[in-house]
Amino acid sequence: MSRALSAAVAIAAVLAALVIVANTALTGIQLGELKLGPILGPAADPNFVPAGAPLGQIGSDPDDPSDPWSAAAPPGGVIVQTAAPNATGSIRIPIPKNIPTGPRRVAIQAGHWKSDEAPDELRRLIPETGAEWEGVTEVEINLDIAQRLSVILNSKGIAVDVLPVTIPVGYVADAFVALHADSDGVGENSGFKMAHGARRGPYEDALLNDIKDSYGAATGLEYDPTHITNQMRGYYPFSWSRFQHAVAAHTPAVILEMGYVSNDDDRALMLDRADLVAGSIADGIMKFLSDTPRSAIFGQDLVVPAFPSRPSRPSPTP
Ligand SMILES: [Zn+2]
Repeated sequence: MSRALSAAVAIAAVLAALVIVANTALTGIQLGELKLGPILGPAADPNFVPAGAPLGQIGSDPDDPSDPWSAAAPPGGVIVQTAAPNATGSIRIPIPKNIPTGPRRVAIQAGHWKSDEAPDELRRLIPETGAEWEGVTEVEINLDIAQRLSVILNSKGIAVDVLPVTIPVGYVADAFVALHADSDGVGENSGFKMAHGARRGPYEDALLNDIKDSYGAATGLEYDPTHITNQMRGYYPFSWSRFQHAVAAHTPAVILEMGYVSNDDDRALMLDRADLVAGSIADGIMKFLSDTPRSAIFGQDLVVPAFPSRPSRPSPTP
C-alpha cells in the first residue's frame, strides 16, 4: 500500500472509531446480547472525583512536616458526600467494574519480591529488600510460601495471583494476603503478627481472624500483638488514597508477618515446615471464602469517612 493510501485508510479508521464513541456516549451500543449503556453511573454524579484527583489531607510527611500528604481518588473514582458545614462528611466508593467472574480469586503477595521494579509512586520501596539473618533472606521465605500456598489453593479450585511489590492498579479479588517475615535485629522475638488497613470494606476482620486462628493452631506460634506497627496497618497496598498501585477498597486485604527470620525456631519452622505453614494459611483463606460469598464482598458501594480538608494557611492578623 502506498504511504498516502495507508494514511487515508488510517484517518478513515480513526473517524469511524470517533463516530462509534460519540454514538456510544449518547445511545449505548448493541454488541450481540451485550448492551453497553450510555456513559452514566457514578461518573454522572456532580460530586464525582475521578481517579488521581485530590480528596483532602491524610497527614504530614514526618520527614518534612511542611509537606502535607494528600489523599487522591482511586481507580474508578469516588463520590464525596459532604455533611453539614464543618463536619467531615463521607466518601462513597462505587462497586468495582472489574469484579472477578468464574472461580474465586485470591492474591498472595510475596513481600519485597521484585522491589527493584516498583513504579515511580512507590520508588521509596526499591531499597526495601526485606529482612535477612544468617544468610537467609525474608524474600526467599515469602516467595517460597507464596508459591506453595498458590499450589494448594489451585488444587481447591481457587484462581491465584502471586504478586510482587508492584500491585496492579486498583487490584480486585476475593481476598488479598501479603506475606512477610520479620527481624528484631537481636534474635529474641518470636511469633506472628497480622493487620489490615482503614477506610476499607467490612470483611477484613473476618479474613484476619480466620487466618490467625488456623495459622496459630497449626504452627504453634504465639500471636505477637505488641509488635504490630503502624507500618503494617498503613501497608501501601491497603492505602488506596495514596497509591494507584493498591488493592481496591472492596477487596478484603491483610498482611501476615509469618514469624521472625531472626529467631532460630521461627526460621526453622518457615524453612523446614514450609508446607505446614502454607497449608495453614490456605485453611484460613478457604474458611473465609466459604463464609463470605462474592456477592457480599461486592454487593454494595462502600461508605467511608472523608479525609480532613487541607488546613487553610493562617491569615496575617490586621
Ligand atoms: Zn517484610
